[in-house]
Amino acid sequence: MEQLMDISHVSYSYHTMQGETPALSNINFTVHKGDFLAIVGPSGCGKSTLLSLLAGLLEPEHGSIFLYGQKVSQKGNRSIGYMLQHDHLFEWRTVEKNVLLGLEIQHKLCAETRESVLDMLKTYGLYQFKDARPSQLSGGMRQRAALIRTLALKPEILLLDEPFSALDYQTRLTVGNDIGAIIKKEGKTAILVTHDLSEAISLGTQIIVLSRRPASVSTTIPIRFSETLSALERRNSPEFKDYFNKIWKELNKYE
Ligand code: ADP
Ligand code: MG
Repeated sequence: MEQLMDISHVSYSYHTMQGETPALSNINFTVHKGDFLAIVGPSGCGKSTLLSLLAGLLEPEHGSIFLYGQKVSQKGNRSIGYMLQHDHLFEWRTVEKNVLLGLEIQHKLCAETRESVLDMLKTYGLYQFKDARPSQLSGGMRQRAALIRTLALKPEILLLDEPFSALDYQTRLTVGNDIGAIIKKEGKTAILVTHDLSEAISLGTQIIVLSRRPASVSTTIPIRFSETLSALERRNSPEFKDYFNKIWKELNKYE
């Protein structure tokens, strides 16, 4: 598989009036095209910090991050899509205007790009809500809309920071399933950060377990399920609990 991203010896500390907080220590991994990496780790270990570095929002103190052989920098990385816990949909815009916003800001809105976004709304069951306001959508539909807005810019890689954690449990299961299916169907590479082990196993092709802060990679576990299984079906398959127990043990080394 083609290598897409290379993270090599990355360390990062926050410097504040109170002193220095080391957040990441010597992180190494590579991302290949089509991977769905799920990063899990204890709360506060540095997961969001790591994603901010991958997105180029923060600069590593040591080490380097390359995307297609080019250094990721703060000057804007259009091939990186970033999705957060809060969907940041604007109430004063319709659903259609929301999903087109990224294209509009980047001056890439034309008949062709608009058409492709409207097609995604159709494929993923939101077309009939295109003139609605975000508040008229369910939590799950809002996350789907947020994902379509991110995909509209055709990113090479999607970074997802606990995108389902604001949803109630039931919704989280179905939205996780939907978002996983959309990412697979669109053939995207994704990195998901989550504190929810089951979510990681139900979606990932590989799990990276981080240590306590300052985070380093504690172990990497490849996840193999039959290609055709959805995230929900994975949860019900016999291998699921074996993966769960293995990763649980790894995480609890730090408790
Ligand atoms: P996680 O996402 O794994 O919960 P974060 O990456 O958000 O962890 O934070 C890692 C550590 O860095 C925490 O101890 C947090 O308090 C600290 N931290 C995060 N952001 C800042 C900041 N802007 N300034 C200072 N410390 C920060
Ligand atoms: Mg976080």
